[in-house]
Amino acid sequence: MTRLILATRNAGKITELRAILSDAGLPHELVGSDAYPEIPDVKETGTTFAENALLKAHALAQATGLPAVADDSGLCVDVLGGAPGIFSARWAGRHGDDEANLRLLLAQLSDIDDPHRGAHFACAAALALPDGTERVVEGRLLGRLRHTPSGTGGFGYDPILQPAADTRTCAELTPAEKNAISHRGQAFRALVPVVRELLG
Ligand code: IMP
Repeated sequence: MTRLILATRNAGKITELRAILSDAGLPHELVGSDAYPEIPDVKETGTTFAENALLKAHALAQATGLPAVADDSGLCVDVLGGAPGIFSARWAGRHGDDEANLRLLLAQLSDIDDPHRGAHFACAAALALPDGTERVVEGRLLGRLRHTPSGTGGFGYDPILQPAADTRTCAELTPAEKNAISHRGQAFRALVPVVRELLG
């Protein structure tokens, strides 16, 4: 059985990709990069989600000698020309301060009316092999931004992104409902034929 490694310490992401691979009948064993604590984090110096996902996947494949998957994601706001984009996790300055990021974004959009509040979550998922072979796929969740946060589930910008086909925010969906439509779910599902092509 081929071992596949996912560049994340987030158990939820590992469970999600593992379920997608096994539902597709792929026999590969998926492990998270926390199984290799000695490997340093990669600097995300790319200018697109795809570049960052590829950087992380290549670094992990080189360090472990295993086929490696990495994803990079964020929120893209139409009226801001796609920002925060790759800077989503540190929009307010400090990496990973979800509440500050959300508050700053809402303040920046305070004068923007509903018809102009289109936005989407984007995710790029990359597969890299130790020999340098690479593939990258993308997924998007289209929606609109609320004026105030709603819901307690999820993380990041979930309380303000209302998917196009719903009346709730992402933070009001169950994890299964969100995985079924999310940018990451779509990107991970698009990896299935890629894994089949490159790893059999
Ligand atoms: P990462 O690339 O998965 O680490 O995500 C980067 C940042 O994008 C996160 O810190 C969040 O701010 C934002 N983000 C990505 N995916 C989601 C999501 O599904 N919901 C809410 N925020 C997200």
